Amino acid sequence: MELEVLGIGNAFTATHYNTSFLIRGSENILIDGPQGLLRCLRERNVTAEEIAGVIVTHIHGDHTAGLETLLLYKRYCQGCRTPLFTSRKVYEQLSTRFFPGFADTFDTEMRRIVGTEFEEYVDFRELDEEGATQITEGLSVEIRHNWHPTPTLGLKLKTRDRTVGISGDTCFRPRLLRQLREDGTISEQQYDRLAGNWLWDSDLIYHEVDRVPGGPHTHEDDLLALGTDTCSRMRLTHVPDGFEERDIPIASEGERVKLVGPLEIH
Ligand SMILES: [Zn+2]
Repeated sequence: MELEVLGIGNAFTATHYNTSFLIRGSENILIDGPQGLLRCLRERNVTAEEIAGVIVTHIHGDHTAGLETLLLYKRYCQGCRTPLFTSRKVYEQLSTRFFPGFADTFDTEMRRIVGTEFEEYVDFRELDEEGATQITEGLSVEIRHNWHPTPTLGLKLKTRDRTVGISGDTCFRPRLLRQLREDGTISEQQYDRLAGNWLWDSDLIYHEVDRVPGGPHTHEDDLLALGTDTCSRMRLTHVPDGFEERDIPIASEGERVKLVGPLEIH
């Protein structure tokens, strides 16, 4: 079983694919579905039919524009629903804000527009925030809710041999997170997951990054302040175009990490 990086770009990239991943194994599970998804998959020799499910971190377009295409393809070309793994909060966003954009269709006579239900496209598998949820044979996922303008997940993929963390879109800014905890905006537990060791404990961490002060993303300086032990296990994603590598390596599109056996990136 391997984790492949499909894209490393941020929302505005013109030189990369938007950030997403593919878990390759007996079942292939996507993590997010950005624009250009089917082309990106074809370039990695994977067809839409071979996608067994999708983990969705949040509804922003750079993570879901291709999800719409995939759901429509699965329903109308392949004739099946897509297993969709996410939290209840993110599912509600998908169901009420994302889905209405393509909810209507024609009847078979093309005479009248009829409504469809989200559940006709997806098979919702709730990811539990309190513990690990098994996704496929030998793989489970733990989640946290990030600090981002819409409900957004950070993930930890767990196999018998290791844990790979994926930050998801998040503003990791320790000073801000401390203030949020002090004024009661976030709970002690959420603070621990956002600023404590929840993610940093992973054997390998794919983290989003930016170099713009403020904003909804993580400044590289805040990652560097974690120290060399944590940064040495980190690879950057969701990078702006022209982002030059300094102290933390930038992930490559197409790189794969073994999720079982020796830790190896190739
Ligand atoms: Zn994004």
